[in-house]
Amino acid sequence: MKAIRVEEFGGPEVMRLEEVPDPKPSGAQVVVRIRAAGVNPVEVYIRSGTYPRKPALPYTPGTDGAGTVESLGPDAKRFKQGDRVYLAGSLSGTYAELALCEEQFVFPLPAAVSFAQGAAMHVPYATAFRALFQRAHALAGETLLVHGASGGVGIAAVQLARAAGLRVIGTVGSERGRKLVWAEGAHEVLDHLAANHFEEALAATGGRGYDLILEMLANVNLGRDLGILAPHGRVSVVGSRGNAEITPRDMMGRDGAILGMSLWNTTPQELISIHSALVAGLENKTLRPVIGQEIPLAEAARAHTAIMASGAYGKIVLIP
Ligand code: NAP
Repeated sequence: MKAIRVEEFGGPEVMRLEEVPDPKPSGAQVVVRIRAAGVNPVEVYIRSGTYPRKPALPYTPGTDGAGTVESLGPDAKRFKQGDRVYLAGSLSGTYAELALCEEQFVFPLPAAVSFAQGAAMHVPYATAFRALFQRAHALAGETLLVHGASGGVGIAAVQLARAAGLRVIGTVGSERGRKLVWAEGAHEVLDHLAANHFEEALAATGGRGYDLILEMLANVNLGRDLGILAPHGRVSVVGSRGNAEITPRDMMGRDGAILGMSLWNTTPQELISIHSALVAGLENKTLRPVIGQEIPLAEAARAHTAIMASGAYGKIVLIP
């Protein structure tokens, strides 16, 4: 099969399409023929060698993907050859024509959901779900700021929170993103590049503040997020690309909380629970992953440049 291989950490150009042996399933493993692989910022951090979790070299990047079951190990019982599925991680990397997976982390892809949409499910949707419900215990009736709503995690959070009965305000950095976040269900959309957007965000709550903020760029926003929390408000920190300065009294005066989260800390049991909810959301159409760009697998380097650019619009996926 063909797969992207990384022989050394570095820039996007270290990803090369190579011929490698086909994976073979054993035990409760499944090989999936990948029809689309999701591209996430974390794969850029890992490839560049700056992320705390480093794979042994050489490796094939990618955690997210969707396709059809190609072959099964003798103890894999939930699927049959040809079934449409999406993955929550793989043992061999998803930037490839085939991926070796543990059957427990393979989930059915409803007929109406495309492979590209399936490839958007794991990192973006599972992260949004965990940040909202497992870490911050979001409740119907609460007011949520999705700070960075136009990308993979942001769109997922807007859809999940709307379906759960929260009032949702999203922020974006482009006009195209604004239309998208609005169409996906936000009650209001603000521009996170506007100098006064924190004042606008507070005004959107009638001055009461946010019960919950899902933060995609904590190094830029965390300090001021604390000043627009409601009493007992929580900031769920999903993304950060540097250090932040905070005023602890902003949090103390509100009994507020900053909650860190990493999808990698999710237990297998929690992951299966999350994906049970996500599959239900795909089936009842409250979850509708938005695909902004489909890029050929051979051009993975271009996808890594695109995912770090501003003006996010849903998901970027690679097509083998
Ligand atoms: P993405 O698709 O590239 O989207 C990035 C988002 O950040 C866009 O909505 C972008 O908006 C927004 N953004 C840019 N500047 C911002 C600002 N000043 N304030 C607020 N938002 C801003 O990435 P993603 O997949 O959604 O991931 C978002 C972040 O979460 C990344 O840093 C990623 O590494 C992290 N993440 C963490 C976990 C975890 O386990 N903790 C899991 C998944 C992702 P515009 O482009 O419209 O400006």
